[in-house]
Amino acid sequence: MCSLGMVQLFTVIDSWEFDHILAVTLLEASPMTILSTNTPSEELRRVDAAHHMHPFTNNSELGDKGARVVTRASGCWLTDSDGNRILDAMAGLWCVNIGYGREELAEAAKRQMLELPYYNTFFQTSHVPAIALAARLAELAPGDLNSVFFAGSGSEANDTNLRMVRTYWQAKGQPDRNVIIGRWNGYHGSTVGAMSLGGMKGMHEQGGVLDGIEHIDQPNWWSEGGDMSPDEFGLERARQLEEKILEIGADRVAAFIAEPVQGAGGVIIAPDTYWPEIQRIVDKYGILLIADEVICGFGRTGNWFASQALGLRPHIMTIAKGLSSGYQPIGGSIVCDEVAEVIGGVEFNHGYTYSGHPVACAVALENLRIMEDEKIVERVRDDTGPYLKERFESLGDHPLVGEVKIIGMMGSLALTPNKAIRAPFTSDVGTVGFICRERCFANNLIMRHVGDRMIISPPLVISRDEIDTLVERARLSLDETLVALQAQGLMA
Ligand SMILES: *Cc1c(COP(=O)(O)O)cnc(C)c1O
Repeated sequence: MCSLGMVQLFTVIDSWEFDHILAVTLLEASPMTILSTNTPSEELRRVDAAHHMHPFTNNSELGDKGARVVTRASGCWLTDSDGNRILDAMAGLWCVNIGYGREELAEAAKRQMLELPYYNTFFQTSHVPAIALAARLAELAPGDLNSVFFAGSGSEANDTNLRMVRTYWQAKGQPDRNVIIGRWNGYHGSTVGAMSLGGMKGMHEQGGVLDGIEHIDQPNWWSEGGDMSPDEFGLERARQLEEKILEIGADRVAAFIAEPVQGAGGVIIAPDTYWPEIQRIVDKYGILLIADEVICGFGRTGNWFASQALGLRPHIMTIAKGLSSGYQPIGGSIVCDEVAEVIGGVEFNHGYTYSGHPVACAVALENLRIMEDEKIVERVRDDTGPYLKERFESLGDHPLVGEVKIIGMMGSLALTPNKAIRAPFTSDVGTVGFICRERCFANNLIMRHVGDRMIISPPLVISRDEIDTLVERARLSLDETLVALQAQGLMA
């Protein structure tokens, strides 16, 4: 309000009248009333920069440059306000698993909104979409993961997990068993609890972390493996869990939380020796295992859940993202019988207004129906996944590409000036990755960078032709990056 020049004119008017006149004036002058997908890009960017704070962004830098405004999408393709068609090799933020523009999901949302747009699941009430989705998830989830606590997002679900595992041990008469171990460079969300469980140092530095959470190192062989073979390194990193448990005291550790494949950390796929050793340690000390399947779940790895692919037996799985293919915000915790029973024996003083939101549940159910009817998980496992792997791995011959890692439909390329010795660049970490991402952007391919790793996670419905396009554009962008690096003297 204070930025409006008219403010001085009204200072003499009493406050009710002032507000009233100002409101009317704002309504008439408000750009918001006229913005649409037909508004010129420059105007959209100007208003965006003036009023919209973007997550994980230096907003003043972005304001100077102007955001890319996405206006519509279909299948694997985005359209921006300048009319470009962009291949989305990130499925939004790892979530649009069945692709954009599915009318069935819009219809499911509409039907549910007309029938029952909202009701809560507190106070001994329930509703059909939450009941049906919980039952469906119990069918899909492995082992005795049979009970679901709903949340509005992955972060919220991990906050639930944090409180649930501590409450579990309290209820079992072991209140001192309250330390949770996570991993450096793991990502579990951005609320205070989820961020503390994660190991993103840049996040920890802003706002402070919760007590009682410890971290071990990630199984990133390319960057941290030194002279060890991947298998030796996998064992060494897994055994850090045992060392940490012993350091804290075995009777004080409540749970270990990890992503089966680190997503936001750069699509880090652990060496084969890692997970069996983690499972052995978890079993030996009787701590709870939380598998954060927010990215890995719902077909991303060519299985319904990555825990199945990696032979993990989690007590709790965190889910979100692909659960609704991002069409509605929804997350949750799928919990094993033993935990559900213990938590069921106390009043768990926890829940969200939108826990089990009926519209989100209805959309998630329709999403799961489509995934099953169209055999999307099987397609990733047997057809397009192997094809993507073969094509993506062909980028390994590029002079900038060291390691290529891929499982199902999540993959990464480690960029390096010298692959023989797995050398890092001499520039600040992320400088080269950012240059490459900008080249991808210019070539109408959304591929993200994490440090100097390039990552993909396309919609699971991506076709072979689209995979070819993805890999061609990636190679072109790598070529252009190499030229840019040589011009800037960054290849040394
Ligand atoms: C995205 C993500 C989260 C957080 O989910 P939000 O819906 O953004 O809160 C948690 N865990 C993992 C592994 C994620 O990738």
